[in-house]
Amino acid sequence: MSALNEFPMPAPEAPDLDIDPAEGIAFIDGDYHPLRDAKISVLDFGFMRSDCTFDTVKVWDGRFFCLGRHIDRFLTSCETLRLELPVTRDELIDIHFECVRRSGLQRALVKPICTRGMAVPGSRDPRDATPNFFAYAQPYSDTIKKEVQDRGLNMIIASVPRISPDSVNPKIKNYNRLDFVAGLFEAYDRGGDNVLLPDEDGNITEGPGFNVFIIKDGEATTPHRGMLEGITRQITFTLCEELQIKTHVAPVPTVDLLAADEVFITSTAGGIMPITMIDGEPLQSGKPGPKTEQIRDLYWSKHEDPEWTTSIDY
Ligand code: PLP
Repeated sequence: MSALNEFPMPAPEAPDLDIDPAEGIAFIDGDYHPLRDAKISVLDFGFMRSDCTFDTVKVWDGRFFCLGRHIDRFLTSCETLRLELPVTRDELIDIHFECVRRSGLQRALVKPICTRGMAVPGSRDPRDATPNFFAYAQPYSDTIKKEVQDRGLNMIIASVPRISPDSVNPKIKNYNRLDFVAGLFEAYDRGGDNVLLPDEDGNITEGPGFNVFIIKDGEATTPHRGMLEGITRQITFTLCEELQIKTHVAPVPTVDLLAADEVFITSTAGGIMPITMIDGEPLQSGKPGPKTEQIRDLYWSKHEDPEWTTSIDY
């Protein structure tokens, strides 16, 4: 045996035809692949510096929910970060459809992601990097487990504050989440289900993957600053209008949260989710509140409404 073939190169991997497409499909490097084969370089600034943005879109019973709003937010986020997307808006939408079509999933989450990409060797200058766009469809899962949603969450108010919006713009959906991770560990250590982070002044901002509303004397209030302007938060304004519940966008001090009649959180992956305990103490009756339930029912009824959804031709 010659020295050269002592360590033969492995044959290139053949595509694994046994992978079930329902595990998820990714669009990456310009083509579609099983989600588990979708990989990016360790040198991508998206990984090394959290220099990236993403979105999460819901597919419910074969229909996209509020797709246009998610596409608009993702495009705005890319533009704000000076990430030049290598695809047009129409191509971006086509890729969303194609990922779901190829997966065959009726209920899915679709994530478009754009990272700064890799710079030329040795450069730390983001202008030297080529943005990397990919997207994937994966089976739907809730931010909060369904059984926890149904009984209502025990929400912990973290001692760690949310990173200042003057430092990291929370309106751009991002992966700068070490404050949330610290908050989550604190919440679990204190026996809670999840966490809300205050700002430096003690006003509530948001949690890892959701916005928050309080209801007091029949009116709903959600924080005004320091959080992602979630699409479910925007939808909640519309639902409240339909239900003739007045809404306010204003600071929510922790004391107001503790004194609220009802509290709920909002997220694409889960919708409207009641909070029934705060820091281990029951909120009012300790049961999901009636207004929360009304908004929640109306929210889910919109998932069959053609005005709110776009059907997918599988
Ligand atoms: N806040 C944060 C930090 C989030 O990551 C998310 C969604 O993942 C939300 C709020 C809720 O946003 P949306 O309603 O658009 O899902």
